[in-house]
Amino acid sequence: MNGLHSIPSVERLLQSDQAKAWINLYGRPLTLQALRLTLDDVRRRMIDGSLDMPPEHSEILTQAQSHLDAWTSPTLQPVINATGVILHTNLGRAPLSAAAVRAMQLAGEAYSNLEFDLSTGRRGSRLIHAEEILKRLTGAEAAMVVNNNAAAILLALSALAARRRVIIPRSQLVEIGGGFRVPEVMKQSGAKLVEIGTTNKVRLSDYEEALQTPDALVMRAHRSNFRIVGFVEEPSLQEVVDTSHRSGALVLDDLGSGALLDTSAYGLAHEPTVQESLAAGCDLVCFSGDKLLGGPQAGIILGRANLIDRIKKHPLARAVRADKTCLAGMTATLLHYLKDEAEREIPVWQMISMKQEQAKVRAETWRDALGQGDVVPSESTVGGGSLPGETLPTWVLSLSVGNPDTFLKRLRAEKPPVIARTENDRVLLDPRTVLRGQDDALLSALKAVLKP
Ligand SMILES: *Cc1c(COP(=O)(O)O)cnc(C)c1O
Repeated sequence: MNGLHSIPSVERLLQSDQAKAWINLYGRPLTLQALRLTLDDVRRRMIDGSLDMPPEHSEILTQAQSHLDAWTSPTLQPVINATGVILHTNLGRAPLSAAAVRAMQLAGEAYSNLEFDLSTGRRGSRLIHAEEILKRLTGAEAAMVVNNNAAAILLALSALAARRRVIIPRSQLVEIGGGFRVPEVMKQSGAKLVEIGTTNKVRLSDYEEALQTPDALVMRAHRSNFRIVGFVEEPSLQEVVDTSHRSGALVLDDLGSGALLDTSAYGLAHEPTVQESLAAGCDLVCFSGDKLLGGPQAGIILGRANLIDRIKKHPLARAVRADKTCLAGMTATLLHYLKDEAEREIPVWQMISMKQEQAKVRAETWRDALGQGDVVPSESTVGGGSLPGETLPTWVLSLSVGNPDTFLKRLRAEKPPVIARTENDRVLLDPRTVLRGQDDALLSALKAVLKP
């Protein structure tokens, strides 16, 4: 306990060059907090006898630095996705195009006419900003952007189906992930859920029967993340729409992913497109902005103008509205489709359209730079609630390491963290989802972890 007086004072430590630099970097209050916390800890350890002498100043400063680092590093940080899952929901879904990023930055750093009509000088509506381009692209009468697709469905049903019956086949009562269940969101809106058919079969007659009771809305939810095969039957969307309309019921289509391009052109199964749903006559179509569309997190509602008008006026619309950076990024993303340059400019579509051969060349470059591993054929997936079970042929770098799980863990501790996968006790790195410009960072992480 005698050594207590030899613990340096906060004032003393503040005189060090290091502490002076911290005040510049982190501000005086935080620097003081870090030093005090460190010194309190030293005092405690000396009192309880686990320490005889105060540590060197340099050691105290190192400890304070680690507090400052921990307190100021964001928990949300970029990672390198080497998993080959293109729309990896846990890794933030769609990376954005350069133009979308620029637009979001501009919207963030300056004032904008978000809700200001430049011609009249009066209050305007934020909802107009992505609407025109959505209408032009899809031919829909009206459009609206909200926070995400779950919000789009909740809002649309709250505005149009509260206390009314909503008919949906049992084969479409999907759980998307993270516990998000379509039937629960439907109930939350106040709609009365009417389940028809069985898990594997639903017929037009099931719809007709449920539609005999008036005041209903028919919903279709895309089976985004699973497939039903075997003894199955389901009428086409066109038939469902025609039957519903004959009974005067509206049809809401939850497309999930919202593809504007045809995935079958890339060797994948055909994911239903927005254009097809509208052509079939759906009154409303909802989908995500950050799945196959490749934009920022958003939910998009398209459809008949009188319905969208009612949705816009519902009180929940305010609670789920999209922010200005989202609207800017969404418009920039949609512009790529309008200019027919989506495949070239939108990362998700660059990855989907990447040729096997390109992946092979890149994996070989990695192997040569590391001096180890094998380049072997494998499969990438689209993920993110689209194209369940579908794969894209790719080539990966396959590494044989002592303990694959430990290896993955160490890769995740790198800066930036690298996320990879294992298969048959080997670590696989898929070039398809590693962004252009990330190769050097990936290689230095791998070198650090492979170092004996
Ligand atoms: C992904 C998905 C949703 C939820 O969309 P978010 O944008 O994540 O809220 C809803 N329905 C279906 C069918 C989906 O695939």
